[in-house]
Amino acid sequence: MAQHTSAFIEALGQALGATAVDTSDDTVTHYGRNLLPSGDRRPSGVVYPSSTAEVQTIMRLANQHQVSLYAISTGENRGLGLKSPIQPGSVIVDVGKRMNRILEIDETLCYADLEPGVTYQQLYDELGRRGHTLMMDTTSGPPDGGIIGNTLDKGAGYTPYFDHFGMSCGLEVVLGDGRILRTADGALAGSKTWHIAKYGFGPFLDGLFLQSNFGIVTRMGVWLMPRPPVIRSFFFLFPDDEDFAEIIDLVRPLKMNNVVPSLFKVTNDLYGLGTVAIYPFARTGGRTPLPDDVRKELQQQYGVGAWCVSGAFYGASEEAIQPLIARVQAHFGRSGKARYVSHEEAEQSPIHKIHIDTFTGRPTRSELELLNWRPGGGNCWFLPAMPMIASVANQQQALSRRILAEHRLEFITEYVCGPRMARALHVIVFNRQDPEECQRVIACYRALMSAYAELGYPISRAPLDFQEEAMARLATFPDVCRDIKRALDPNGILSPGRYGIR
Ligand SMILES: Cc1cc2nc3c(=O)[nH]c(=O)nc-3n(C[C@H](O)[C@H](O)[C@H](O)COP(=O)(O)OP(=O)(O)OC[C@H]3O[C@@H](n4cnc5c(N)ncnc54)[C@H](O)[C@@H]3O)c2cc1C
Repeated sequence: MAQHTSAFIEALGQALGATAVDTSDDTVTHYGRNLLPSGDRRPSGVVYPSSTAEVQTIMRLANQHQVSLYAISTGENRGLGLKSPIQPGSVIVDVGKRMNRILEIDETLCYADLEPGVTYQQLYDELGRRGHTLMMDTTSGPPDGGIIGNTLDKGAGYTPYFDHFGMSCGLEVVLGDGRILRTADGALAGSKTWHIAKYGFGPFLDGLFLQSNFGIVTRMGVWLMPRPPVIRSFFFLFPDDEDFAEIIDLVRPLKMNNVVPSLFKVTNDLYGLGTVAIYPFARTGGRTPLPDDVRKELQQQYGVGAWCVSGAFYGASEEAIQPLIARVQAHFGRSGKARYVSHEEAEQSPIHKIHIDTFTGRPTRSELELLNWRPGGGNCWFLPAMPMIASVANQQQALSRRILAEHRLEFITEYVCGPRMARALHVIVFNRQDPEECQRVIACYRALMSAYAELGYPISRAPLDFQEEAMARLATFPDVCRDIKRALDPNGILSPGRYGIR
């Protein structure tokens, strides 16, 4: 450990108490681990603040000793980084380990005030304890993931409150220079509207703290939806890969006029069956990627079709929702190829049940099984944007299939569709114990990024391994981010290199 880092760790111990800092080999190994192809990134140590004032102390000491920090809330960012810092040797500030309280739930105005360690499962359980009159949105990822960390990484869910940043209101942030900023209405001492009035007075600064490294967020408001008496999902299975174009044309109008208030999921065969099955090495004679004939057999075996379209309605009663279900049935029925699966039938399928859970705001562990599709524990996400246009849909599908197959990897994907844009969630599952396969994943990711960028389709979130490269593709934007970094974190202490900002 560098001398200035040892002096920093000692100063932290003196200021916060010895139990607030951990540099043991086990801890450092645990926090350095990730699922990405470029390998683990060991920090120098981990510090666990218990209050905003302690976060401020950590920031002040880090500036004094010139030591890089990396903040996490719950560190469950699977396939994107987990707990691992972007720069090895940084000291991790695990903000959520001790700061994990639900500070308030206002059942009248329907919001919660949270510390960074509050997980999806924790908030769900607390809402349950209060009778589930309020509903939160959740990811389909780890229930131990945190609401603040996910929001700060531009995460999203699936219910009408799917837009996690959109449904957040008011942040408390310790800036890189040690000042405390409360955003929007929180800037007025004693404000009573911090978590209900989103845009406040003057420039709207909240967005600065997403996918950046300008400050450590210590508190956030999140809006909750009154839980409707009835939630009913619907499913349509399509048999062929090429049906994707028609699906996009069918989904777009239903989202454009918001007939369907959830997001639509358009999930491919392997994304679904990968949650209940593993790669059939015996059937392929050890060959990768999965041949199309074996893929077709698996579709039959697991009853998934090439694509599964799903969404949900929220209403006062079964009678209120039934006409809406009839309307989407008629709409998708026009294709002549879609097989309708009712909510009741879907509840019997572990594959479809994941969607019902997420449309219902219920955290689930089931989708994590997807990471066991191939052995070796590697997982990496590629997340480009797709316009909701049929021809582009099949162009992107062909492009991804080709590039992934060239690198002996599978096209495992779910398109999460809004009215104008779908986020294409490509899950790359690989053997992280095999160095040759890791190199192939790196090459594949770069090929995907280049091909999509050349066609004009940017990515949103990126795994640690590729954040700098993705930022370097953008014009003017990196310079402006750097200028903001200089202003708010002049010594470049916090998470240098996160999303390519130094
Ligand atoms: C099968 C599967 C399904 C998934 N489904 C979804 C999904 O539906 N939606 C989705 O969005 N994601 C999904 N994910 C991705 C991911 O697992 C979740 O988004 C997860 O919630 C993020 O981890 P976290 O909440 O623990 O955030 P953290 O790991 O705590 O934070 C993420 C990053 O934000 C920054 N950060 C965190 N806290 C702070 C802070 N207090 N101050 C400043 N910066 C901070 C850090 O750089 C950190 O690395 C999925 C993953 C898998 C494997």
